Amino acid sequence: MIRIEHIGIAVKDLAAAEELYHKLLGVPSYKREGVESEDVITSFFRVGPNKIELLESTHPDGPIARAIEKRGEGIHHIAYEVADIHAEMARLKAEGFTLLNEEPKRGADNKLVCFVHPKSAGGVLVELCQEITDRS
Ligand code: ZN
Repeated sequence: MIRIEHIGIAVKDLAAAEELYHKLLGVPSYKREGVESEDVITSFFRVGPNKIELLESTHPDGPIARAIEKRGEGIHHIAYEVADIHAEMARLKAEGFTLLNEEPKRGADNKLVCFVHPKSAGGVLVELCQEITDRS
C-alpha cells in the first residue's frame, strides 16, 4: 500500500459538519460529490498531503445512516491508496481478510474502491482506493 489516502467521517448534517471542519482545519471543503451506489454525499477537505472525507447518508437505510445509528457520528473508515487494486484485493483475500466487494467499484473522487470488513481488520473498516487513470 502506498499511503493513507483519506479518513472517512460519518456525519448527520453535511452542511453543519463542513462548517465545523472549515473552522477546525482553516480551509473550506474543495468538493462535494454524491456516490449513488453507497447512498452518500461526500465532502472533501485537504490537510497537507492528506484528505478528510465527510459522508452524509442520502437514504435512511444507507450504510452511513446505519453506522451512525450503531456508533454515532465519527470516524467511519481509513482509506489506503494502492497502485493495483486487483492485486491488493487478491493479496488480502489470500491473507484471510474478508472483502466486501468482489470487484472494485467506482467511489468518490475518481477512484476505484473496495472495502475490507472491519471484523477481519481489527475493528476498522478499511477502504482500498486506486486513482482512475486512462489505463485502469
Ligand atoms: Zn472513503
